[in-house]
Amino acid sequence: MGRVSQPPHIHKFGGASLANAAGVQHAVQIVLAYRPAPQVVVVSAMGGVTDALLDTAARAARGDVEHVSGAAAALRARHAETARALVPRGAQLDELLTAIDAAFAEVERLAGGLGVLRELTPRSVDYLVARGERLSARLFAAALAAAGGRVAYVDATDIVQTDGTYGNASPDLRRTERSARRALAPLLARGTVAVVPGFLGASPDGQVATLGRGGSDLTATLLARVLGAREVSLWKDVPGLLTADPRIVPDARVVPQVHVREAAELAYYGAKVLHPRALIPVIKRNVAIRVRPFADPTSLGTEISRRRTLEQYPVKALSAIPGQALLTVTGSGMLGVPGIAARTFAAVHHEGISVSLITQASSEHSICFSVPAESATRARHSLEETFQPEITRQEIDGVEVRTGLATLVVVGLGMAGTPGIAARVFSALADAGINVIATAQGSSELNLSLVVDGKDAARAQRAVHAAFQLAKIGGGAVAHPERTDVVLLGFGQIGQALAPMIAKVKRRGLSLRIVGLIDRTGLVFDAQGLSPRRLAALGAAKAKGGSLAKAAGGRRASAADAIAFVAGHALANPILVDVTADDTTETLKAALSAGMHVVLANKRPITTDRRHYDELRAAAQARGRRLLLEATVGAGLPIIDTYQKLAESGDRVTKIEGCPSGTLGYLFGELGRGASFSAALRRAIAKGYPEPDPRDDLSGKDVARKALILGRLLGFAGELDDIAVESLVPEGAERLTLDRFLASLEEFDAAWARRIAAARARSRVLRYRAIVTPRRIRVGLVAVDASSPMASLNGTDNQFIFTTMRYKKNPLVITGPGAGPAVTAGGILNDVLKLAGA
Ligand code: ADP
Ligand code: ASP
Ligand code: MG
Repeated sequence: MGRVSQPPHIHKFGGASLANAAGVQHAVQIVLAYRPAPQVVVVSAMGGVTDALLDTAARAARGDVEHVSGAAAALRARHAETARALVPRGAQLDELLTAIDAAFAEVERLAGGLGVLRELTPRSVDYLVARGERLSARLFAAALAAAGGRVAYVDATDIVQTDGTYGNASPDLRRTERSARRALAPLLARGTVAVVPGFLGASPDGQVATLGRGGSDLTATLLARVLGAREVSLWKDVPGLLTADPRIVPDARVVPQVHVREAAELAYYGAKVLHPRALIPVIKRNVAIRVRPFADPTSLGTEISRRRTLEQYPVKALSAIPGQALLTVTGSGMLGVPGIAARTFAAVHHEGISVSLITQASSEHSICFSVPAESATRARHSLEETFQPEITRQEIDGVEVRTGLATLVVVGLGMAGTPGIAARVFSALADAGINVIATAQGSSELNLSLVVDGKDAARAQRAVHAAFQLAKIGGGAVAHPERTDVVLLGFGQIGQALAPMIAKVKRRGLSLRIVGLIDRTGLVFDAQGLSPRRLAALGAAKAKGGSLAKAAGGRRASAADAIAFVAGHALANPILVDVTADDTTETLKAALSAGMHVVLANKRPITTDRRHYDELRAAAQARGRRLLLEATVGAGLPIIDTYQKLAESGDRVTKIEGCPSGTLGYLFGELGRGASFSAALRRAIAKGYPEPDPRDDLSGKDVARKALILGRLLGFAGELDDIAVESLVPEGAERLTLDRFLASLEEFDAAWARRIAAARARSRVLRYRAIVTPRRIRVGLVAVDASSPMASLNGTDNQFIFTTMRYKKNPLVITGPGAGPAVTAGGILNDVLKLAGA
């Protein structure tokens, strides 16, 4: 018997990874990169092949001969095509193609036999289905050889010894250890990579027995155990083991490390990422199992090991088992009668049915347990038979069955000893209006199981996921950065400029979609994303004064209802972009609480009242969401970003001074060139620079708001009212309606002409300036020397001058266009991309 000197690295490539020749090629590259370490490669069947073979077997037994030959031909062609793409012409390829042909010719022969017998035994199914793994292992081995690797195919029946339970065999550790060492150690010692088909092993009489669906994971951990491996890489189509099934909980995150018992619990209770028994061989061993993203071999994914980390997360992940039935045995005669529970489970066990959750009321009036729905009837009959005497004597009322249920399983080592976990789960479900039908907690306190109505299962998972802030695990790394769903609050000029920009973002592995638009009247929503065409049409309708409520596909809704509606959908990494000019605090809070990120171009909610700002930040923090506001100051210029970078690098900003109004900058530029006030303002409006009511700009309110946002970064504690603002709105014009004001602009031309002339006489130009320090903010008109940097501003240029501890004598200046839908939309897009993980 050979000895394994250096522990080998075990790789397992899942079916999704080996979907085609490119996938196999990529797997080969991963293995080559591990050289010269000894390696064992376990492979699944190519994606979809196991399902197809099982389906073929079932149809064959029904005599559906035509389907069988069609399916066999398709599978043969798929394998042959992959072989041709991987292996150059020659003896190797010929041998491979012959094996493929033989495998599927045999499928047809076997299927013929099954059709005659009209019988399908687990043993014949196993024999038939095993060829999926055997062929993919041969393909992989040939591809590795063609790429220059030393490789040998070793059949799993020569290694994995099982108890012979066809369809769900359990490996025998001792016997497997012996045969694995005998078959593999010499190869590994020579530096040969051993390629082994996963999912199957030998029954005691030498027949093929499979380990149950997903069994290749178990093959890999089993080999790790018997070969004394330290590391196993399970290469899958996910970035790691996630806090929940990403198809159900869109903001599921990669858990960087989980304890092997936690992972085992998840796998056992339905997490479709690991075979239910995959971790048994390694539960007490020092082996690190890594669930790794096939798409990114540099990433380590999730480590499953015996370390305990992330202790601040008492709950680490959840899963759900669908298709459950609940059986309840009730009766007053059960009280104090010993052995009822034992007889109940013996009856179920006798039928080979596995029970996933058990509860017994302390009154002992009833025993309740869950089984897979398809076994419910069998379980009931068996129980009725067992308790026939008691039922006749009316000591037991009977056996009740309730189907259509799901078991939600909440897992985490930290649950033991952390009080209130169950309460948090229950209140999260109650808040979501979900009824808990039964519950149980294992004595290990490692898992909490709850039975809910099947139709509530997805919502229940999302609610519990949110309640434990699982989206923040691992620093909030996005599990599915490839999709980000954007909802626009407001669809005016900026929103309409932003929409096509979002549609145009083309980056590998990133898809940004606008799924909803909300305005004062209602919303338009499509979870699949609104097409650029549809967005353009909606924009055109809005520009003509139309409302979303009345638009095609639109519905009437208050902002709160609109957010609730949007939040009811499983969006991926949802972001609400506020491009209104309203006080939207409540709407934003609702969005943050519903798990959306918020990007603001709207200054109002963060400048009305400090309390609102704090509440928004708290709501974001509570849900692990972000509130980004770059576009509120300087439109697309990186002002807040610069501040943050300075602060992060340890600098201290003592003053920010500048001209943060593109509208006023433009206005004074035009006035300086001799334009009249009325003409200049009308031109600015036509270009979309001012706020909807230009008096918000003229009054200095808009500048004051920007100054307040900057001031708060610097630690200014006051409110908008504490800012000294010089208004440029002519006396008496504040009270006019917007229309009247706009109609009367000419009245103010003369006064402005005089001011400009006076400044020019002193070689000065007028600028509207803000000075922001932690203690004081001032906003108003100044006449600056024509040679000063501020005087040189052009068009809608903004300027921000940062005085910091490092930039003291020579301050840091940022200048650039600071108004207009396009640049503002650009600023927003930057924030959106940041959240999309781009
Ligand atoms: P393999 O290709 O190795 O057989 P599987 O398909 O068995 O991989 O497992 C990966 C799949 O499991 C993912 O595509 C994902 O949809 C699903 N899944 C369910 N729950 C989780 C979870 N908690 N973490 C990661 N993936 C999960
Ligand atoms: N191919 C088998 C299945 O699909 C085993 C595996 O992939 O692990 O279940
Ligand atoms: Mg699998």
